Amino acid sequence: MKQAMDLMKLMEAFDTEAECREYLEGLRWPKGLSCPRCSGTTISRIAKRDQFDCDSCRYQFSVMSGTIFHDSHLPLPKWFAATYLLCESRKGMSANQIKRMLGISYKTAWYLCHRIRAAMAETGHKLSGTVEIDETYIGGKQRGHKGQLKNKAAVIGIRERGGHLHFIKAEDVNQQTVYDIIACNVDTTVDVIMTDESKLYNFQLTAHHKARHESVNHSADEYVRQEDITVSTNTVESAFSLLKRGIVGTWHRVSTKHLTAYLQEMTWRFNNRKNPFLFRDTMLRLIASSNVEYKTLISA
Ligand SMILES: [Zn+2]
Repeated sequence: MKQAMDLMKLMEAFDTEAECREYLEGLRWPKGLSCPRCSGTTISRIAKRDQFDCDSCRYQFSVMSGTIFHDSHLPLPKWFAATYLLCESRKGMSANQIKRMLGISYKTAWYLCHRIRAAMAETGHKLSGTVEIDETYIGGKQRGHKGQLKNKAAVIGIRERGGHLHFIKAEDVNQQTVYDIIACNVDTTVDVIMTDESKLYNFQLTAHHKARHESVNHSADEYVRQEDITVSTNTVESAFSLLKRGIVGTWHRVSTKHLTAYLQEMTWRFNNRKNPFLFRDTMLRLIASSNVEYKTLISA
């Protein structure tokens, strides 16, 4: 599929199991079929069972073997539709919405969404250039009339200006935790790191990152300071507001346990907001991901 996807094209192109399989085959084996076990390329098709048989090692497999679709009883057109919906809705979609739109049970919808989110995870990519870092708090129940918030989860946002956004759930908010998150997500060649005046960022950010560190003093009402570059954390803060609208409007109350999955979904969509091939690229992720078992997701 060379062109970008829209809903009409999706419904037309992926209306049957066979159409979906053919598309997945093209994504998985762009240079022709090869055996997942021995990489052999002489493969016979067992059409009746939608399977392949490797002439070299006799391994029988399907386009779904070893992928996130493995063992799934859900029709592929529903997988495709759910993936499309999660990619295209700016603030995300709840399992309840997916349930209604696809006519599946809540449990199936919930599990489906979580598998798609798992495939969206970006790992190992580090940000560089000019990087803004800030923290925010998500969720939690309000208790008492003073509105004291319990069970809130901290999220560190790191945004490369003109580049990618990372949201990372922090187990706690102290200098060491925040520093470790920065070390994992920001390349040592970064030029400038921008934060607010919080003590969290008072450590030697430059010890490993020989970058310049600039901060704005929010408590003194300073949000932007013009130097040779614009000093602010406004772009990471605007990403936080999108995250909060997604959580309030779509997911209602995200459990802390699954917060990382929602953050993965949100950043994947955000980082691909100008990508006309987002659907195809997400499908490539699904093909490259191994299955996530339901029992793993629900276990504590
Ligand atoms: Zn083989």
